[in-house]
Amino acid sequence: MSSPLVLPGFVNAHSHTFQRALRGRTTGGDFWAWREQMIAEAERQTPESVRRDYAATYGEMRAAGYTAVGEFHYLGLDEARAAGEAAQEAGLELTVLLTAYARGGSPRFRQESVTEYLAQVEELRASGLRVGCAPHSVRACPAEWLEEIGQYAMDEDLPLHVHADEQLREIEECVAEHGVRPIELLNRTGCLSPRSTVVHATHADDAELDVLADAGARVCLCLTTEGNLGDGFAPVERLKARGIGICIGSDSNVRIDPLEELRELETTARRASRRREVCDVETLLRFGADEGAASLGIESWPDIEIDPQHPSLRGLDHADLLGAVLLGASSDVVR
Ligand SMILES: [Zn+2]
Repeated sequence: MSSPLVLPGFVNAHSHTFQRALRGRTTGGDFWAWREQMIAEAERQTPESVRRDYAATYGEMRAAGYTAVGEFHYLGLDEARAAGEAAQEAGLELTVLLTAYARGGSPRFRQESVTEYLAQVEELRASGLRVGCAPHSVRACPAEWLEEIGQYAMDEDLPLHVHADEQLREIEECVAEHGVRPIELLNRTGCLSPRSTVVHATHADDAELDVLADAGARVCLCLTTEGNLGDGFAPVERLKARGIGICIGSDSNVRIDPLEELRELETTARRASRRREVCDVETLLRFGADEGAASLGIESWPDIEIDPQHPSLRGLDHADLLGAVLLGASSDVVR
């Protein structure tokens, strides 16, 4: 009986946990049509359903090897506290990324003012939860909100997460409103620093990626969701060439498997570059764990054990084991 391989737990830096209910809705339309179903599902949520269903889904995450999660949360404060209880039950470290939402979406998501939003952040922090700021997107937040939230996050040394460049339409609308692309607007409004994480960046152009690199910000890629929603191809090589930190997220939770996220990250880059080992295994492991923890402001999180006798892994030389975990196995190798 060989001893287990101990790894740092994987960190799920971007989850909308209630969206797991939509994983079987596979037909028709595009991102925007899916979003209508997603908003209807959000409107059904209660503190009780979040407490119950998030505990189940967080349990799936824990079993798959995630030991920390960033919940990008726009369902309300009571539901945020319920998510905190659910994470505790599942044994996951949690950062609640409380969403600021000025316009669009569901009335339920919105605050009246940025002052109200910051008061919500303060209330949640006072309750003992680990909290980050999350202006939802440049679609949902006007420039004045972004400026105030960026300043607050900087003053309080809090993580700041924001969606950007997932869909081309968002970029077109941002250019029409502001004359710049989303990541340029985030930079202009003071939202980018080493504590910042831009979620997706699927359609970011080279100038936007240069801005991220200069700011020391990270990008969270959510490969299985981006594939499921037809968003486009993650710009893995262009991020890596600039030394931009990458973390991963299960996002809509259509799949809960950090090894699948990391394998999609690497194989997407291999297809695009037509070569192997775009990211070596140590780099993939860092993307899956340390970068996510830093993005969420988490300093310690549980390790996991991998079963080297699992059929996906047995018989391998020790030197090949980590490569087989990351490129040739699913999360059922986690003990
Ligand atoms: Zn998201």
